[in-house]
Amino acid sequence: MAQQTNDRMDRLVSLCKRRGFIFQSSEVYGGINSCYDYGPMGVELKKNIKELWWKSLVYERDDIEGVDASILMHPRVWEASGHVEGFTDPLVDCKKCKMRFRADQIDTGKNCPNCGGELTEPRMFNLMFKTYMGPVEDAANIVYLRPETAQGIYVNFHNIREASRQKLPFGIAQIGKAFRNEITPGNFIFRMREFEQMEMQYFVKPGSDEQWFEFWKEERLKWYERLGIRKENLEFHQHSEKELAHYAKAAFDIQYKFPFGWQEIEGIHNRTDFDLGRHQEYSKKNLQYFDQEANERYIPYVIETSTGVDRLMLTTLADAYDEDQAAGETRVVLRFDPRIAPMKAAIFPLVKKDGMPEIAHNIVNGLRKQFRVFYDEAGAVGRRYRRQDEIGTPYCFTVDSQTLQDGSVTVRNRDSMAQERISQDKIMDYLVERVV
Ligand code: ATP
Repeated sequence: MAQQTNDRMDRLVSLCKRRGFIFQSSEVYGGINSCYDYGPMGVELKKNIKELWWKSLVYERDDIEGVDASILMHPRVWEASGHVEGFTDPLVDCKKCKMRFRADQIDTGKNCPNCGGELTEPRMFNLMFKTYMGPVEDAANIVYLRPETAQGIYVNFHNIREASRQKLPFGIAQIGKAFRNEITPGNFIFRMREFEQMEMQYFVKPGSDEQWFEFWKEERLKWYERLGIRKENLEFHQHSEKELAHYAKAAFDIQYKFPFGWQEIEGIHNRTDFDLGRHQEYSKKNLQYFDQEANERYIPYVIETSTGVDRLMLTTLADAYDEDQAAGETRVVLRFDPRIAPMKAAIFPLVKKDGMPEIAHNIVNGLRKQFRVFYDEAGAVGRRYRRQDEIGTPYCFTVDSQTLQDGSVTVRNRDSMAQERISQDKIMDYLVERVV
């Protein structure tokens, strides 16, 4: 069974490279561990996932605003947040095979899970990448690559509140890069050292936090249906007292059933007034909120929803990957929800003559301002379908001899492989109804 699931993962990884979703970073130099580049299909998938998240929070609600904060922040931010002191993992080395592990991720006690050798005592290792601002490399100039996007939201809380005239409860959403010097990165793009987060911090009146926590737990789980993830592959995991971060009053992870096991894809945390409280203490600025209705001042509580774009790419790819039998051969198909499919449609002329390529090009030109679409005239139509199945294109339109007579084209459905005819004037409406 384990072999089977690993094979499946291997096949997915190789498809991702072959079809231009994901490449190892700096591959010509042998690659750099746990950094990846997204190719032509990968960037589209990534963009679509981010858009779906952004729309559901910022466009579809009145109470959430967006921000794009800088990666480098004042170093005091990371003292206030607790990262300088506490963003550490326990690192152990095997004295025999020299492999490195996170002590909290192995269940073999003092022995190496790889060779059984003796492990060193755990050393606390800070996961933040450090660098220097300006030409002088001394302690006064240290800055960090942000390990999470959340702090850029907290320090902008009052700027955004004032500029947008929001009242509590309201939220701030951000998508951006984060960096963690992970001890044991791995499982392809599951754990990386450079990755992108999508975080939304929802500021509420103390006392209403538990109710909002429940609200966001349910909302976020529902969002995964929009992403097209199968329900049976999702579950909540509640953090025990021991797992709870120092700032959290309650925390749930949404987990996905990856080929390598159930793993976190999103965290939902009740962070109390820890963050704004600490920034008030460290910055010496008054960060209280004045509640006009209640005529009182307080530090808002924060409900955080935090997920990773790359991890959701792996989730959508793993969930969509399928192999079935078609015309006596194995068909590899990515069954993405059409809303996140990188390529929305492919347009084929059946043959390269009789004016069919011109009609197909015209159709492509009519669609390309709205959708990412693809023109293909190379090889047999069956092979062209297979190529689109492998990247998850939901619909293929073919111009054939009947098109020359009545203007209709065939539409072939990726999942059912069924075909129907529609008028070429209706292609735009057909797609708008199904892929937006
Ligand atoms: P872990 O305990 O597994 O290291 P965490 O609990 O520290 O993870 P959070 O800080 O809650 O993770 O991060 C929120 C989200 O950001 C995660 O659910 C995940 O989707 C994403 N994420 C965190 N670290 C990484 C990483 N190294 N690579 C890719 N995505 C990540």
